[in-house]
Parts: sequence; C-alpha cells; structure tokens
Amino acid sequence: MPLGNPATPTGIANINSTVTTPFTLHVIPRDQHTISRKDISPNALRVLYRLREAGFGAYLVGGAVRDLLVGGRPKDFDVATDATPEQVKQLFRNCRLIGRRFRLAHVVFGREIIEVATFRANSDDGSGDREVENGMLVRDNVYGSIEDDAVRRDFTCNALYYAIEDFSVRDYTGGFEDVMARRMRLIGDPEQRYREDPVRMLRAVRLAAKLGFDIDPPTAEPIPRLANLLSEAAPARLFEEVLKLFLSGHGEASFLGLERYGLLPALFPESAAALKSNRSGALRSMLIEGLRSTDARVANEEPVSPSFLFALLLWPAFCRSLITLQRQGLALEEAQRRAADRVTLHQLSTIALPRRFSLPMQEIWLLQSRFSSRQRKRVFRTLSHPRFRAAFDFLVLRQSASAEHAEDIAFWREAQLQNGQELESSLDALQADEQEEDGAPRRRRRRRRRTGTASSE
Ligand code: ATP
Ligand code: MG
Repeated sequence: MPLGNPATPTGIANINSTVTTPFTLHVIPRDQHTISRKDISPNALRVLYRLREAGFGAYLVGGAVRDLLVGGRPKDFDVATDATPEQVKQLFRNCRLIGRRFRLAHVVFGREIIEVATFRANSDDGSGDREVENGMLVRDNVYGSIEDDAVRRDFTCNALYYAIEDFSVRDYTGGFEDVMARRMRLIGDPEQRYREDPVRMLRAVRLAAKLGFDIDPPTAEPIPRLANLLSEAAPARLFEEVLKLFLSGHGEASFLGLERYGLLPALFPESAAALKSNRSGALRSMLIEGLRSTDARVANEEPVSPSFLFALLLWPAFCRSLITLQRQGLALEEAQRRAADRVTLHQLSTIALPRRFSLPMQEIWLLQSRFSSRQRKRVFRTLSHPRFRAAFDFLVLRQSASAEHAEDIAFWREAQLQNGQELESSLDALQADEQEEDGAPRRRRRRRRRTGTASSE
C-alpha cells in the first residue's frame, strides 16, 4: 500500500473520544493528486487565501475535494478553518453568521455562498434532531482540531482537506486511497455510525450512485438490517434526501441502490409492497423508465419537478389502493380521490412532502382517467388543466408498463397541436364514427342500409 492505511476498523473503534484520535496524517503533495486551482471557485479561493493571510488554517473540505479528485464539478465549495465564526466575520465584510446551535459563517458573493465552518469535535449530522434525542446540547459547538473534524464526518471520501498553504491534500482516515479505489467507506464502526444517524444509509447509496463508487462490504453489510431505523429520521430531512437521490441526474442508479440494500420499504412502504406484489414487473419497469427520463432531463438541463417525481414513486401505491377501493364497491372517481388522499397521508408519516407538491402530484394521478374521454367539453377542460402537460407525460410513461395507452397518447399528442377549431372538427368526426360504430361496424351498416334500400326499390 503506497499510502498506508491507518484507519483500520480496530484502530478507530473509539472515534467518539475526543481525547485520543488514533489517526495518522497522510499528506498527498500537489504533484501526486489532480486537484488544480483552476477548477476551484475563485470565490472559494479568495476565502481560503484571506484566512491564510490572517494566519489561520484554511482548507477546502468535504464533497468538493472528493468531486474534484474524481474529475467532477462540485456544486458547492465548503471551507474548514481553525478560525472561530466571529474571527471569520471580522475578515469578511460580506459575511454573516448563521445557526445558533451550529454556528457557521457564510461568505456571500452574489449568488454564490462559501460556507466556512470551524473545526469541530464530535458529531453533528445536521439533522437538527440529535440534540433532542440525546440531550447533548453542549457538544455541537465544541470546536476541535482538524483530526477531530475529520473523524466526525461520515465517509472517508468526504473527510479530505485541500490545504491552500501548499496545495496538498490532508488525509486522516484513508480517504484518498478509497477515492482512488472508488469506494465508499464509513469512518468508524459502521453500525454505530448508522445508529447515530440513519440518514447515512441513504447517503451511502446516493453518493455511490452519484460517483459510481462501490460501497465497501463492511459499510454495506449493516444497511439491510438497520434500514427500518430510517423511520426515526426527521421527515423533512428525508424529503430533502429523496430529492437529492432522484433529481440530481442519477435517479435510476439511486433506485437500484435503494432496492439492492433493502431501503425502499423504509422510504416508501406502500409502493415497495405494491412493487413486490406486481408479478409482471410492469410497475417497476415504468418506474425505472421514469427515472431514466428524469436523469436525461437533468443531463440536458431541463427542469424536473418534485410533484412528477413523487407521482412516479407513489404510483404503485396509488394503483394498489385504487384496486382495493374499487373492489370494495366504490365508483372509479370516488375510489381515485380516496386512494390519492390515503396514499399521500400514509406517505407523510415517513417523508414530509409539502402540499405545494402533493396537490399537483394528486392531480397528475386523477387526470389519468380523463384521457380516455373524447367528450368535447371534457376534452377541452382536460387540455386547459394546469397539470395537463405533466399528466400527459405521465401517460406516456405508463406506456412502458402497458401498451393499452397507445391510442390515447396519439389522440392527446395530436390534440395539443391542433387549434380549437381543428380539435372541434376532429372530435365531431370521432363522435360521428362512434355513433355509427355503436352496435355494428360502419361499413357493414351502411352496406346493409344500402342493400335494404336497394331491395325495397
Ligand atoms: P453532495 O453535496 O454532493 O450531495 P456532500 O458530501 O458535499 O455531497 P453535504 O450534505 O453537502 O454532502 O455535506 C458536506 C460534508 O459534511 C460531507 O462531505 C461530510 O463530510 C459532512 N457530512 C454531511 N452529512 C453528514 C452526516 N450525516 N454525518 C457526518 N458527516 C456528514
Ligand atoms: Mg455538498
């Protein structure tokens, strides 16, 4: 091992102790890594240099270092320092301090914010609920050394520090080697770290999907066993995580990861059950197809919406609930409305889906049954519905689960392109056809009539 790896599981069993930190520093000098200043946000560089000039330690840290090492483009640049938030504030006019319990400095450059955090000892997972659960109010703002700061992070690949003083990467947990091996590895005892913060299980799957990394077996092993701990996580935080899992361009890979590690039932209990009982696999195919097209939209920088995403993710649950209610004798419309409400309500106990997304999600579902109608008034009403476009896209997706929607898709695709008059006349034509087809095919009837006329003549 060229770099050595001091972070053996036994060596870090006691990471919660702030007194002894059994980690060895590995310095990866500039000529042995690929991080170049030209790939770092100029504003982040400004912050780093200013801190350094004032005599403080200044490091780029977390996701940005990891992403740069794998050749990615970080979406934000976080800085870690030994300066206190107040000292940071004194250095930057454009700085505001945020958070009471977990004080952070935000240095604001127009739309870009560089987050500057003081090295901390012990863990804060950002969940906001840790304090209440464990009553450890005091621990969060205990500042620490850079080593303390490294070991409170989740994965080794997230605990690398790029030092502005010599452009080296500082590694306390074996993260550099893990990044090179494209491996997600938790710092410390995996089970203990998941118990501290179950959302780390989702982060493992999400980051592995995003980066194309494998999850190291000891880090992966406890996930299926502990998956149901996710029910203890704050629903608002899970909502944010789900958006990151599925709307960041790697939704399909995220889904496969969640499935593989048994996390789907913890996040979407009813959908997971419906998928399991759908033996043809049609619902799963539709879901995968939907996530794939969402990924393509993200890649093309087209907008994606949480309402559509949740309509997709909860569609299996909706279908199942609808069937149950119809079996109980409810008429379609009533059954649909109740199924939509029921599924939404049940899902809210796990994931806090805000109403501004759950209402459009339900509309996407409820519009589906309207697509088979060719009644003039209904057709126009459907077309002018604010959720028409999303609902139509959803109908197109349903095609991947069942071929029976082809005719509706063709009709509504055409209907969108026609002006009012054109649409009216094609509806008239359709209606005429339908009336004639009522009972017997048109040509036969005509022929019969003609024959009749002829015979009476
Ligand atoms: P991305 O921004 O690409 O989603 P990230 O790793 O930057 O990934 P953030 O949520 O921005 O994720 O977190 C920044 C850093 O904070 C992480 O790299 C990690 O070092 C630390 N961190 C985040 N969440 C946790 C957690 N639950 N437990 C421990 N450390 C965490
Ligand atoms: Mg980040």
